[in-house]
Amino acid sequence: MTDCIFCKIVNGEIPSKKVFEDEFVTAFLDISQVTPGHTLLVPKKHVKDLFSYDEELAEKTFRVLPELARAVKESTSANGLNIVMNNGTVADQSVFHSHIHLIPRYTEEDDFHMTWTNNADNYTEKEMDDMQQAILSNLEG
Ligand code: AMP
Ligand code: ZN
Repeated sequence: MTDCIFCKIVNGEIPSKKVFEDEFVTAFLDISQVTPGHTLLVPKKHVKDLFSYDEELAEKTFRVLPELARAVKESTSANGLNIVMNNGTVADQSVFHSHIHLIPRYTEEDDFHMTWTNNADNYTEKEMDDMQQAILSNLEG
């Protein structure tokens, strides 16, 4: 895709701090370095988001994650690492060439924050059953 910043990185048209590459994916340092070592894993094929992956692309992309995560963690002496994938504007995606963030974690007070609310008390057993059935029926066939 011509006007895509990550396609340009994949094609070598703009520079990046590349840390891994194979036939199907590339990985490079995220320019924002939310925490030191913040890395992006990017499929070379232009797909917008997770909803556009087929099984083959998923296999070729996600299979790299464990080894890359170990390398990033070892290189930074981080104590942990968050994997984040933003899919859609409402989910904070800003570059619409799919990518996976690897964010090394040093302390609970470092610069990566994730908050969510436990809403368990707001749902009845029936509402949870209905949600389960809705998801199951979308996975059938
Ligand atoms: P997201 O908000 O999940 O779409 O994340 C997009 C990420 O791409 C951000 O963390 C940016 O810092 C990063 N980014 C944008 N342009 C570049 C670039 N030229 N090189 C490295 N990272 C970039
Ligand atoms: Zn692209």
